[in-house]
Amino acid sequence: MASKTIEELPGVGPATADKLHEAGYNDLMAIAVASPQMLAEAAELGQSSAQKIILAARHEADIGGFETGDAILEKRKKIGRITTGSKALNELLGGGFETQAITELYGEFGSGKTQIAHQLAVNVTMPKDQGGLDGDTLWIDSENTFRPSRIGQMVTALELDPETVLKRVHVARAYNSHHQMLLVDKAMEEAEKFPIKLLVVDSMTAHFRAEYIGRGALAERQQLLNKHMHALLRFGDIYDAAICATNQVQAKPDAFFGDPTRPIGGHIVGHTATFRIYLRKSKGGKRIARLTDSPNLPEGEAVFMVTEGGIGD
Ligand code: ATP
Ligand code: MG
Repeated sequence: MASKTIEELPGVGPATADKLHEAGYNDLMAIAVASPQMLAEAAELGQSSAQKIILAARHEADIGGFETGDAILEKRKKIGRITTGSKALNELLGGGFETQAITELYGEFGSGKTQIAHQLAVNVTMPKDQGGLDGDTLWIDSENTFRPSRIGQMVTALELDPETVLKRVHVARAYNSHHQMLLVDKAMEEAEKFPIKLLVVDSMTAHFRAEYIGRGALAERQQLLNKHMHALLRFGDIYDAAICATNQVQAKPDAFFGDPTRPIGGHIVGHTATFRIYLRKSKGGKRIARLTDSPNLPEGEAVFMVTEGGIGD
């Protein structure tokens, strides 16, 4: 591991160091893998100065190399899974929500995105042999839809202790997209104090969608969403946590995308999410989940239920 701090890099004075810290560049690795443009913008430097700092950071940081498939297989055996409460949904996902990955839930209002997130926050507290990871949840709530009472109902159905479970869910409201992005840095601080195994971002895209309107703002919106999602992935990698991010679909045909069932954020969100699940309502409280993208699982569908007791078959 790199032992130097960013202050020790050539070209980084106290003022630059402050700006870098403020923008979330707290260690050599973060700088080593940054692009000159991103760093120049963050620290108000010229691009060539930024480039020099990046090269110095790369020299100092252990940026890793190539690994053989068997070593990666060994690492992947450690990936944790959180049960959703529905056997069918777990099977669709190869066992549940994976750590070190972003699972994106997208679908129209009432399709069950927030319900699944609540259930995961309950289930993650359970021991491993019961489908949990004996972990806590960080919940970034952009729509004010986190409900302790809903957790209570799910906890009761599982005969767990409500107070114990609620103490393990750490919720922060995100008031705008910028705030939402800053909360990922805060999340890192929380994860140093608590055994965080799940990070919920509900909704990941709503603020971005509301703030960056029209074609002119699209490039900037996509760039920021991309940055946000990479910060989420990094969190998942560092803390071996699952990321559950929700996304709505376009409510009406969009001038840019056209298709009303397209998730917000377009291809940027789609390519960065590890797993994508499309949710839709069906008859009699049933929900249909469709796995639309995965690095290793076939596309498929699962039927599950949302009841008072939570997610089930
Ligand atoms: P949005 O895009 O509006 O955020 P969403 O996909 O997050 O939508 P959810 O909040 O997950 O939607 O789902 C809401 C639905 O979940 C309700 O319409 C209802 O069918 C079901 N639901 C919520 N609470 C309960 C409960 N206590 N008992 C049974 N079903 C419930
Ligand atoms: Mg919701």
